[in-house]
Amino acid sequence: MAKGTGSERRNGSPGRSAPRGRKAKKSTQDPVPARLRDAREALHRDLLDWFRRVGRDLPWRQGSDPYRVWISEIMLQQTQVERVKDFFRRFIERFPDVRQLAAAPEADLLRAWEGLGYYRRARQLHAAAQRIVADHDARLPRSMTELRSLPGIGRYTAGAIASIAFGLPEPIVEANSRRVLARLAGHEAPVGGSTGDEPVWRIATELLPHRAPAAWNQALMDLGAGVCVPRAPLCTRCPVAAHCVAHATGRVATIPVTAPRREAVDRDETAVVVRRGTMVLVVRRGAGEWWEGLWDFPRLPARRLLQPLRCGRRRVVGKCAYSVTHHRVAVTIATCTAARSGPRSGHAEWVSWRRLGERAMATPGRRIMAVVEATTGRAAAPSAGAGRRGAGR
Ligand code: SF4
Repeated sequence: MAKGTGSERRNGSPGRSAPRGRKAKKSTQDPVPARLRDAREALHRDLLDWFRRVGRDLPWRQGSDPYRVWISEIMLQQTQVERVKDFFRRFIERFPDVRQLAAAPEADLLRAWEGLGYYRRARQLHAAAQRIVADHDARLPRSMTELRSLPGIGRYTAGAIASIAFGLPEPIVEANSRRVLARLAGHEAPVGGSTGDEPVWRIATELLPHRAPAAWNQALMDLGAGVCVPRAPLCTRCPVAAHCVAHATGRVATIPVTAPRREAVDRDETAVVVRRGTMVLVVRRGAGEWWEGLWDFPRLPARRLLQPLRCGRRRVVGKCAYSVTHHRVAVTIATCTAARSGPRSGHAEWVSWRRLGERAMATPGRRIMAVVEATTGRAAAPSAGAGRRGAGR
């Protein structure tokens, strides 16, 4: 299955979807209304006061070590804060600095990433760590240009690292701050994508207080996460309600406007769990596939792989499902026994079922294992990521 998303996407529910076919147009208009610009000082004071009192206590906010900020920001791309907390602690214990991360085998990194999903982030993190060691003496660069030249670091992540780790006056736009900024400014055009977000970046830039960019950016995200939520925002408890244009003009429920979601595509797969004694056949997902480099069970037809094994009759043992981007995949799970082990190949291996849990398995592979275990009573070794899933900030 082909990959489909960039590394800077952030989850977030829309306030209202634009009608299909309505695209964001490039606007030359100033997206910050005069009333909001005039209130900037009071806006800064009110939001920063609130953040000092009730800002979230998150593991990566203890200090401003650029390495920790970077790791957390990569993890938070497409994964929710609550889920990231434990992963972050474990990851920092396992890879405490950029040198150790750069020197680690990729398989170790993928194993540590298991359960967070979107493994491309882990690979890019690894590649970036190696570049930071080779080109920057193991220190994250401070400039936006150098940060953005690193794998996996786009405009948002570079702004977050520059502002939070280095205190530089760089704005951010992700799902939460996008919603807050659009509502504060009463911005009615569709947001999202490079064209739709460009005015939001201008709002973020104009409203950014240069004396406190780290606190401001984090405050925007916290406000969006807990108060200015997608549906039914808590305007009566909002510290900046007095300055909010959407609130003053009764347009909170309709801002932000987002591009319509892609329609879900259903597909079916048949996975086959091939056994030979206590061993089971697993295949490594290839370049350009989702979960690249992780292990999974073969999907039919897989003739070239399975024919030399002389497999016996297949028996359907259950079903599972998974979603990836806009695909909803229903998997029929069959088992069979191989008469031969077949030729050796780098992308297919026989593994003891008991030790399967020690492998970095793709999410569908884990679900298939769970179904097989439930139907046969066999248990694989526990995995670090088993049972975890999901994504957003
Ligand atoms: S007043 Fe309401 S809409 Fe405006 S920023 Fe606060 S919570 Fe969001």
